[in-house]
Amino acid sequence: MKRYFTVTLISAIMLIILPLANYVSAASGVTVRVAIIEDRTSVDLSLKGKYAIYALGTGKVLKEGPYLNGKVTVASDGLLVGGKAIGGTGINIKVVKDSNIYIDTRRFRGSVDIVRKDNGKLLVINNIDMDDYLYGVLYHEVSHRWPAECLKAQAIAARTFALEQARGNKGQPYDLRCDIYSQVYGGRDGEKWSTTHAVDSTRGKVLTFNGDIFPTYYHATCAGYTEDASNLWNADIAPLKGVPCNFCGNSKHYRWAKELPLANVESKLKDSGYKIGHIKSVNILSKNRSGRNENIEIKDDTGTSVVLTGKDFRQIFGPNEIRSTKFDAEIKRGNLMLNGMGWGHGVGMCQWGAYGMALRGKKCDDILKYYYPGTEIMAIDKLPSKP
Ligand SMILES: [Zn+2]
Repeated sequence: MKRYFTVTLISAIMLIILPLANYVSAASGVTVRVAIIEDRTSVDLSLKGKYAIYALGTGKVLKEGPYLNGKVTVASDGLLVGGKAIGGTGINIKVVKDSNIYIDTRRFRGSVDIVRKDNGKLLVINNIDMDDYLYGVLYHEVSHRWPAECLKAQAIAARTFALEQARGNKGQPYDLRCDIYSQVYGGRDGEKWSTTHAVDSTRGKVLTFNGDIFPTYYHATCAGYTEDASNLWNADIAPLKGVPCNFCGNSKHYRWAKELPLANVESKLKDSGYKIGHIKSVNILSKNRSGRNENIEIKDDTGTSVVLTGKDFRQIFGPNEIRSTKFDAEIKRGNLMLNGMGWGHGVGMCQWGAYGMALRGKKCDDILKYYYPGTEIMAIDKLPSKP
């Protein structure tokens, strides 16, 4: 009995220690470069621990110390770092292990580059281990209260997406942005245990098609049918052809409505180069298989009309103003009334659908293989080495 108790106690302690050990040794061996600020002339920099600042390019130590609290601003031929003039194209900031870099009020793991761009503005890049980066993505992309299986599916999709972007952007100044145009990334603040655990428990796993990674797009809510990527981008990819989705009915984004004053619509269209007067009618000319608008015709009171794609229409107003291209339109009392469904471009995994599947007992693999048909989960280190 005593021996059993001791063994049980040791097991219990191991259960507590092991996840902790995992967390501490998070490094995945892959680093990504994430643009966290672009086109500003000044940022606040705070380093609460031993640090060193190196010149980009030469690697020369420019400044080091136990603590720094200041600004980085553009100067006539370089940067001002904490009041010290530094020539060259930029700096690389490193802090000792377990310390963080604060940019404005946000806290970042890894190292940070601050580059003076040709336009005289700053570009701030966080160089960060893939899984450390994913910790800072997941809690923004999905609710940390969701079931573990859909969080794991999200972790694998986000890891694959980041890796694919990093591969494609090798020659560019950075791999990913920190907003909806890549994946939303907020640094270290706000990380949650459940989302971090989803990253840890899928470490090194990516989604592949024909033995290689592909851009694993995902979105909030498809509202019935996911989109074929080739309708939006030059991306004819078999797992991104669209599937029916009966799992996202609980999404708060399933239906939406938007009221746009016609004068506002007219000025937005003109700003985007469309020659149109006072709008008289808006007709959806065609919808695709997933129910999203292909072409929209807008006529003015002189009979002039313009036709634009659903994608362009949404882009003109912004992806948060018009949540999807799946909507009906009518004019009422001087307003354009849109009744729409879903949120996001609709390609790949439907996040609310993944949540719905997990609630029905589906596993991470089931979810990924459903939204990305024909794919396999594979270890990163088994991937072919491609440029
Ligand atoms: Zn869905």
